[in-house]
Order: sequence, then C-alpha cells, then structure tokens
Amino acid sequence: MTKYVAAIDQGTTSTRCMIFDRSGRVVAVDQKEHEQIFPRAGWVEHDPTEVWANTRQVAAGALARADLNAGDIAAVGITNQRETAVVWDRTTGRPVYNAIVWQDTRTDAICRALGELGGGQERYRDRTGLPLATYFSGPKVRWVLENVEGAREKAEAGDLVFGNMDTWVLWNMTGGVDGGVHVTDPTNASRTLLMDLDTLSWDEGIAADMGIPLSMLPEIRSSSEEYGRVRERGALAGVPIAGILGDQQAATFGQACLSPGEAKNTYGTGNFVLLNTGTEKVMSENGLLTTVCYKIGSADPVYALEGSIAVTGSLVQWLRDNLGMITTAAEVEEHARTVDDNGGAYFVPAFSGLFAPYWRSDARGAIVGLTRFVNRGHLARAVLEATAFQTREVIDAMNADSGVALTSLKVDGGMVVNELLMQFQADILGVPVIRPVVSETTALGAAYAAGLAVGFWESEDDIRQNWAQDKQWDPDMDDETRETQYALWKKAVTRTFDWVE
Ligand code: ADP
Repeated sequence: MTKYVAAIDQGTTSTRCMIFDRSGRVVAVDQKEHEQIFPRAGWVEHDPTEVWANTRQVAAGALARADLNAGDIAAVGITNQRETAVVWDRTTGRPVYNAIVWQDTRTDAICRALGELGGGQERYRDRTGLPLATYFSGPKVRWVLENVEGAREKAEAGDLVFGNMDTWVLWNMTGGVDGGVHVTDPTNASRTLLMDLDTLSWDEGIAADMGIPLSMLPEIRSSSEEYGRVRERGALAGVPIAGILGDQQAATFGQACLSPGEAKNTYGTGNFVLLNTGTEKVMSENGLLTTVCYKIGSADPVYALEGSIAVTGSLVQWLRDNLGMITTAAEVEEHARTVDDNGGAYFVPAFSGLFAPYWRSDARGAIVGLTRFVNRGHLARAVLEATAFQTREVIDAMNADSGVALTSLKVDGGMVVNELLMQFQADILGVPVIRPVVSETTALGAAYAAGLAVGFWESEDDIRQNWAQDKQWDPDMDDETRETQYALWKKAVTRTFDWVE
C-alpha cells in the first residue's frame, strides 16, 4: 500500500512540491522561486514556462529527498496562486503572453468600462459573489485578447485556451499538446468573475460582456476527483492527479476549517481570511467576497466568506528589496523589537490599491504620523502592524456579515514565524491566535483533496484528527489602547484614497 500523497503548490513567489504521510506530516519539500516581472508601475507578471519547468524540477527534487519514486505516491493534488491568468495556444503549448498576476492593476480601465454597462462595481456581485476589480482573472483575459497581436482571431478560431495556474500546471502534467486535460475546480473558477456561484458553471452573459469565447474556458469539475494521470516522463509519471484547490481554499481545508463558523488567516504575500459558511452562500454587505470553499466529489459545494488583503508579507519584501533596510525577512522582527511601539507611525501599503473591505483601485501607499522621533525600529513595527490592522478590518467585516463574532483565529503562512506580529495580532483583535503544528496548510489541503479522492484518507474526520496546535497567543492589551490605535489606523487608510484616477 502506498504511504504518501504529494502536493504541488504553485505560489506567487515560488513553486513547491511537498510530500505528506497519512498523519498529515511533511516528509519532504523542494521549492524554487521564480522571477517577479514588473514591466511598469502596477503591472506584475510571471513567465508560465519558467513556472512549469520549476514544477517539474521540484517534483523530482521532493521525491529524491525522501528517496521515493512514483510508485510510493497514491495521488497528487494541485494548489495555486488564484486569479493569475495564463492564455496559451493549445496547438503549440506556448503561452501567448506572460501570466498576469493577481496583484496586477492594468485592467482598471477594463473594469470601469464593464461597470459603466450598468451596475458599476457591483454589476456581477449577485451571480459571482465578487465586485468588479482588477484582482480577478476574467478582465485579464480580455486584456490579453485586446493587446496581444493576433490573439483575438486565434481565440475565436478555438486555438487559445485560458487557465488560472492550476489549469496551466494540470494541462502540462497530463500531456500538454499531447492530450493535456483542460480542467479547473470551482474554487479557482469562482475567482474569474465568470462563474455562476449557484450552478458552478460559466456564465455566458458575463463571458459575452468581456468578449471571452467560451471555448477558451476550462471544464469545471469538483475539487476532489481523478482528473487524469501524470503523463510526462517525470518523477511522478503515472500518478493520478486527484485534487485542485485555490491556495486560500486549500489552506482552509488543511486547517480543518470544515464546519460553518470556522475561519483561518494565511499570512503570505498577501493575507486571506476565509470563513466556512457551509452549504449556505452568504452575500457580503461589508466588502468581502463570497467564494467556493471546496467541492468534494459529488457532495454539495461548501462556500466561504473571504477577506482578501493584497499586501502584507510583500511589504516586508519591499523593505528588503526596494529599501535595502533589511537583508532577510526575519530581520524586520529584530528591528521592531528595538522599540516599544510604532512611535505614532502608520504604514498603509496600498501598492495594488486596496482590496477588502475597501476595493479602491485609486488608493496608493502612505506612511503617516511621521515626526523627527520616528526611527527604523518604529517603521519596522509599522510594517508588521499593517498586516495586523488590515486583518482586523476584514474580521470586523466578517463578524458584521455573519452576525457571529469570531472567538479565535487559526493562522498559517510564511509570516506566522514572526512572534511579535502574532502577539500584536491577538492584541489588536482581542481574541486568541492559534498556529498549528503543520503550518504548510496550503499544500496539505491540496494533498487532502487528492488523498480523499483515491481513498488514501477515508473522510474529513481524518483531517480533523490530524490537526494539532503548536502555539497560542492570547490578547494582552487594554481595550482603550487597542481602540485608539485602530482608530488611528482607520484614519491613516483614508489618507491613501483618491491618489490616482
Ligand atoms: P506565498 O505563499 O504568498 O508565496 P509564503 O507563505 O511563503 O508566501 O510567505 C512568504 C512571505 O512571508 C514573504 O512575503 C515574506 O516577506 C514573509 N516573511 C517570511 N518570513 C518572515 C518573518 N520572519 N517576518 C515577517 N515576514 C516574513
């Protein structure tokens, strides 16, 4: 009997392959970063060919590290940066343009023009659960069709196909031009602005509005079933690919947030809070998204409310790469510990406009409250606090939408090693923050989806049983300090509005 399940985690900054055993513990990891391409202010791209090459490499690397081969792996699951759009030619296998990344704001004019057809930013909310925003894939596909020479003709002839990163990786793994499977799952499809949240099928009216031929769109299957087998002669050759979940939904699954009312927050490039709302689709009145959380085989889909924050960990990267103030991400905590508080400084990182709960593409970043007193330590603190304040804003929105106050928050992602941030998060939320033993919940969630499909795990109870707590931070701040600081943060946010047209 096979003892392991693999997951491919195609993230924003890197691609990982992780191998898990039946208890959900990590057996091996391999990881490779890919280039972040910034052709202009507001544009962010990845080279899909590089990403696919890295995927093959890390799959081989992870197996080699654990001294395993394909015969030891029961199934592989895919999880991915969502909304990042690739358009490629199904006859040559070549992308017609770089992948346009979720943070990219180039589709602002396209989104506004669509809103002007009637309904403004809320035009597709009822059908898709989403506001019209640059974040989602549909408008990015339209941009490619409008701006890449010959793309529209080829698309209309049926030669071009679209996928989020899950679909690009799956198509290549299952053979590419030689029989590649063109499929996605409802969690990824729900991020395109093209899927109807009730029927889990493409909305022809919206696709027509955006000028996207239906022939470009992948087939929407469940998040947990066998889509095909790895065809290319690589490390995983012959292994069934049996799970697809967008990264944030995968983390929710991996955190065992499997009952209505359970929520997690992932601290990566951005932050993403997801609250499981069960089979009920809760429409937000407070700037959150309604999205598919997962659909396991033929079971009913489970929905989530989501608070998406564009810039959190990437602000730490910015401090490192653009300012050179630190050389590693971990150093931000050392600087922050040299001071007792933020010294009055607030940093609102509206680099991609502001996502939840504001959805303002006209916002740009600001540091406010500066005086001659403020030093490097205060700025480092303001950088970390920005993540916690933004999280508080989306949790407040979630409490308002769901009518129930969250009593604790499960956390994961690259930033949760930062103890100062975790304590400040508990302080500013006023509820405990809990980190699990396995903080690689994104890859784990995809592994669970794949493992459930092939019977490696029997039921969701196995997932609940595997979850174990590592550490908990309890709030340790008086109410007055908390609310005073939060009010100043809110004021700082208003300073970023109306910056660009
Ligand atoms: P993603 O999956 O979005 O690529 P990860 O979950 O790997 O991201 O998290 C990486 C992010 O975490 C980076 O943006 C990095 O700046 C941030 N990060 C890593 N270590 C620390 C740390 N010790 N303190 C603060 N931020 C950190």
